[in-house]
Amino acid sequence: MLNIILSGAPGSGKGTQSGFIVEQYGVQHLSTGDVLRAEIKSGSELGKKIDAIISKGNLVPDDMMYGVIENYIAHLPKDCKGTIFDGYPRTVAQAESLTELLRKYNMDAIMIDLMVDEQLLIQRLIDRGKISGRADDNLNTIRHRIAVYHNQTEPITEYYLHEGTYFAVNGNHSMEDVFKQVKRIIDRELVARSK
Ligand code: ADP
Repeated sequence: MLNIILSGAPGSGKGTQSGFIVEQYGVQHLSTGDVLRAEIKSGSELGKKIDAIISKGNLVPDDMMYGVIENYIAHLPKDCKGTIFDGYPRTVAQAESLTELLRKYNMDAIMIDLMVDEQLLIQRLIDRGKISGRADDNLNTIRHRIAVYHNQTEPITEYYLHEGTYFAVNGNHSMEDVFKQVKRIIDRELVARSK
């Protein structure tokens, strides 16, 4: 069992790398962004509230996210090989909650951080905006999301460094080259855990 927190700024390639990891290791993938977008699509009252937050590029409150994660972890299948947490945690408070929740079920996680230069992030997100139709993929919101990332999410680096479960990857390369680095980290971790 290996849980992987895939972190990085918007546009850092979390979704792409998650797909590669799922294919290679047969783990589950939880994208909190996807969960929230599905709620918006359902047209519920909650979805409307979430839409107002996400389209401005802000973070959904921690307590709202906690319910999503708690529910997910409580319903994991017994034979689960692990989960990629894509887009969670995004604040130190979320990181603390996740550690606690995982511990409750005798689990832990490693954190893989996709590091990408800001200019490249912006370019990728503008390109994605042309096809994604996502309300938050426009230049003003992109800039705001990157600022939110620096202010609210980046501090989790310290948290995982302190936990001793932090691994950085240079995400400026091609998807395949980034995956090679990710794979090296996961393989090393799996070997260490099998001992
Ligand atoms: P990206 O990483 O490209 O910004 P995501 O799909 O991961 O895209 O997230 C889109 C938006 O969903 C975020 O900007 C935020 O508003 C909301 N969101 C996703 N995950 C979380 C979270 N863990 N906590 C708070 N808000 C979140």
